[in-house]
Parts: sequence; structure tokens; C-alpha cells
Amino acid sequence: MKHQTGTESQPLRVAIIGAGPAAFYAAESLFKRSELICQIDMFNRLPTPFGLVREGVAPDHESIKSVTRIYDRIATNPNFRYFGNVTFGTDITHADLKEFYDQVIYAVGAQSDRKMGIPGEDLDGSFPATIFVGWYNGHPDYAERQFDLTQERVVVVGNGNVAMDVARILVTSHERLAKTDMADYALEALRYSKVREVIMLGRRGPAQATFTNPELKEFGELEGVDVIVNPADLELDETSQASLESDKTARKNLETLRGYAARTEHNSSRRIVMRFLVSPIEVLGEDGKVKAVKIEKNKLVAQDDGTLRPRGTGQFETIETGMLMRSVGYRGVALMGVPFDESTGTIANIAGRVIQPSSGEVKPGEYVVGWAKRGPTGIIGTNKPDSAATVAAMLEDLPQLNPVSAEKRDPARIEQLLKERKPDYVSYSAWNKLNALEIARGTAQGRPRIKLTRVAEMLEALAQA
Ligand code: NAP
Repeated sequence: MKHQTGTESQPLRVAIIGAGPAAFYAAESLFKRSELICQIDMFNRLPTPFGLVREGVAPDHESIKSVTRIYDRIATNPNFRYFGNVTFGTDITHADLKEFYDQVIYAVGAQSDRKMGIPGEDLDGSFPATIFVGWYNGHPDYAERQFDLTQERVVVVGNGNVAMDVARILVTSHERLAKTDMADYALEALRYSKVREVIMLGRRGPAQATFTNPELKEFGELEGVDVIVNPADLELDETSQASLESDKTARKNLETLRGYAARTEHNSSRRIVMRFLVSPIEVLGEDGKVKAVKIEKNKLVAQDDGTLRPRGTGQFETIETGMLMRSVGYRGVALMGVPFDESTGTIANIAGRVIQPSSGEVKPGEYVVGWAKRGPTGIIGTNKPDSAATVAAMLEDLPQLNPVSAEKRDPARIEQLLKERKPDYVSYSAWNKLNALEIARGTAQGRPRIKLTRVAEMLEALAQA
């Protein structure tokens, strides 16, 4: 009865793994199809939904987080269920999904980080920016981490928006941070931070930086912070200069950077120093702890495809620091039973259809969206068309669908299974209670919310609600 799936008598049963923006946009895209009746179950490892909107977006970027209102609206659809605190691979497996759902969407993002591959990278005091981001945002995985903020200088490697976020947070005043939803423990630790200088290292030039205009402009508006740019770093080679013509973002960035380079008064107590065309080549340590980073000056070399890549010039410099954050990009992590492409760090796929990388053969009924599909690029909004494209592929595949058997289609079967395996799963209405509790705690202190940052704490709050 293949043709019936997606109708009132036999709704399409879809599981979505993950609850970040890509997951919600996929759900929205499915619900928007008036010709399709579909039931969506969303599974998430953490009790709380929203992925990087909750655990990645910087606390001082409050307005970006209002996008969750759209996700809340999607979740009110009677054909939507949320199962938080449910881990794929243990609480619910690939085999379970194949057994109970017509189609599965992986929306798991990129949960690890890239390495620089240089000596000393793993010394104490050198770590991925993604961990620091998770920590100040109250991600339960990082809530117990400690950061030694007794040093005056921190070096941040990378020229993307994550590097901008961590640099900014490190020098933002306590008064400003205290108005945000930053995790309480991080707020307290940063309050006593001795960090006065953040040096950002871009391996290519200012025209190749991947940070966006508002983030760069924000640097210049930070109270009590000097932004220092060497004018010589802004002199462009011919190819970079030519690339500006078709790259409005880079053009505007250059304009802003020139403004910073022209500033001559540097009287503030904190500073961000933006360096370009330099690569860390070794992290130097003492007693297992970071002491300095050795960097090499680069020049840009054109590749066959026209891109400009950095190449060392043999000119070296050593910067003393006790803390090095590498903000060189996120990386996906393989899911048990799901084909993974090691070269891209994504779930192996062609335009959202999961494939067997060795043969290129499509795995029927399995799809991917977001960073797990295309890699860790783009902003929240990028996920909307990305998810819609995967949903279009899902619908195109419907005529070939091999539907789940009638007795396995009953939505109650999943609740039954989870009650046995993971009785403390968190529903959307339970999340709404946690949300209300966090907001109430925040209101009392004039903050948007005070986050619960431990899973046990969340479950206890729910037990008492
Ligand atoms: P990203 O934009 O890809 O930046 C990574 C940076 O690391 C690049 O500057 C890259 O330089 C550099 N890099 C990579 N390998 C390196 C190495 N071995 N040595 C030195 N530098 C190296 O990634 P991201 O900052 O992690 O951000 C991820 C995505 O989230 C981006 O799309 C970003 O825009 C988005 N995001 C947006 C916001 C916002 O909208 N406010 C906030 C945070 C994140 P090359 O260019 O030379 O490779």
C-alpha cells in the first residue's frame, strides 16, 4: 500500500535526530506541505532543544535567540512530538528508527572541532574555542570545565565568527555580561578574569577573513576596549584587491578595519589585537602548560582554482601567553550505524540523501540536514533552504518508499519503548516548564533567563514541577 503513505489514513512517520535550527526547519518544511500528512518525532540528546541557538550563539547576542519563537510555533503542531534526553545509539538506535519510521532525518550538527595539527596543541591551556563557547553558554557537557583566567593575554587562532565571539566575550565588561543569559558559573569566573589582551591570529589576509560585518563593527563599539590593527596588515596583494569587487562583506570588513587601524588613541584597559597573515606553528610549554606560541609570517599563494592559500615565509615570532584557543572550525562526529565521510566530517550524502561512501549507493529513507550535511558553515538562516531542499528530496522519494508495517506505525509504540529504556525523557511541554523556570529565575535578576546547566538539575526541577 505504498501510495497511501502521507495521507490521513497512513501519515508519513518521520524521525528527526537533533533539535537545532536545521531540525526545526526540516519539521516546518514537512508540515508546510498541504498535500502531506506527516507525524514527526524529534529526538535530542540534551533535555533542552535548539542546539547552537541555546549553546552556541553568544549570550550578548540576545536578539538572535528570538528565532526560537518560530521553533516553539512548529512544536505546537499536534503531529509533532519532542523526546529530549534521548541519546541516539543508546536510548534509540539506528535499527529502532528503521523499524518504526518511514523516513529519518539526521540533524546532529558538528559536535567536535578541527585540529591545527601542530606540536604542543594539546598542552594544558590550549583548547578548542568550541569548548569555551559551550562552557559560557551552560552546555551540560562543559559545565564542569575550569578555565585559568589569571593570565593577562589570550591568543585566539582563527578569523571566523566564533573567534570573534570568544575574543569579545573575554574582554566584555562584567556589567554588560551580567545582563545576559551567560551561565552563572561563567559569569562569576569572568568577573574575576585578569585577561586584558586578546590577540587574534588570521592565517590569511583581511580580505579572506570569514567573520561578518556586524561582528567586526561590534568590536569597535565595545566599552573600555581598544581594537588594534596594524595598517601594514591591510595592504592587499593584487588578487585580494581584485576579489573585493565581487565580495561586499570583505569590502565592508576592510573599511571597518581601516577605521580601526587609523585609531591612534589606545587608552583603554582592555584590547583586542587583530593580526593577519600569521600561522601558529608550535605551542610552547613548560611543565605541560602553555607558555607561548610560535608563529610564522605567511604570504598568499594563488591555487589552480583561484583561491589564495597561506604559505610560510620563514619569518618567525614568539608570543608569550598562558592560554591558546583554537577557533579553526567545528567538525562532525560519526553516528553509530550511519555512513560518515571522514574527509568532510559530514554524514555521507548527496544533496541530503544519505549514501554509502564506498559505492555511492543511496540508503533509502535516510536523510541529513544542516552542518551534518554541508559542513560547519553558514548562519542560522542558511539552514532553512538547506532543510527545505532535503525535504524536497524526501517527497520525491515517496513513490519508492517502503513503509513501516501497520503494527509498528502506532505512535504509542515509541513512547512505550522509551518508557522502558529512557523513562526520564523530556517532552516539549516539560521543556516549556524548564523554560518558564529559567525565565522566572532570570526576571528576578533583570536577566533574560538563568540557565539550568546540569541534566540532573533539569530532571530534578521537572520532578518537582
Ligand atoms: P569559519 O568561519 O570557518 O572560521 C574558521 C577560521 O579558522 C577561518 O579563519 C580559517 O582560516 C581558520 N583556520 C582553519 N584552519 C586553520 C589552521 N590550521 N590554522 C589557522 N587558522 C585556521 O568557522 P567558525 O568561526 O567556527 O564558524 C562556523 C560557522 O558559524 C560560520 O559559518 C560562522 O559564520 C557561523 N557563526 C555565525 C555567528 C554569527 O552570525 N554571529 C556566530 C558564530 C558562528 P581560512 O579561511 O584560511 O581557512
